[in-house]
Amino acid sequence: MASHGRLEEYHNRRDFSRTPEPHGEQGAAAVRPRFVIQKHAATTLHYDFRLEADGVLKSWAVPKGPSMNPKEKRLAVPTEDHPLDYADFEGFIPEGSYGAGAVIVWDRGTYQNLTEKAGERTGIAEAIQNGHLSFRLDGEKLRGGYALTRFRTGKGEAWLLVKMDDMEADPGRDPVAAEPRSVISGRTIEEIAEGRGG
Ligand code: MN
Repeated sequence: MASHGRLEEYHNRRDFSRTPEPHGEQGAAAVRPRFVIQKHAATTLHYDFRLEADGVLKSWAVPKGPSMNPKEKRLAVPTEDHPLDYADFEGFIPEGSYGAGAVIVWDRGTYQNLTEKAGERTGIAEAIQNGHLSFRLDGEKLRGGYALTRFRTGKGEAWLLVKMDDMEADPGRDPVAAEPRSVISGRTIEEIAEGRGG
């Protein structure tokens, strides 16, 4: 976490898709940051959308899940940062626990931050503060550009997740309905619930 903080200014000033300079992270961290979408059958079914940034998973709950249609705006309610290793979690959160219910890893992959302000690349943490981020997903189900934009601040803080109108946009494709299975285990959330994660 600390190394992210120390290099934040260095990273913010550079576009690593253009400059040959090193990104300055070591080992596995040199790969692009991860994203994960967990389908979560809690009290209300939702999709937890998480982006790796600054050593944690920045998180939003998206009740309807992501769309491939740039005209569809999907409500995204921010939730608490989650630890990085939560990205691999699927199973059953027991009754009586916070978020009780089944979880599957519905999609995962890497993302590229595309957020800019006045022509300069903005880091994810700053972009979240500013209330707007755009990024490219390279997942198993989802690909292409998306934007997250805050439209309400304060107690009822709320954002919108919208597909960017790019090559991968496809109003005719609805992965939430057509591709319900876990990208890790191939199981549906109903199968996890029935087997209680076993
Ligand atoms: Mn959740």
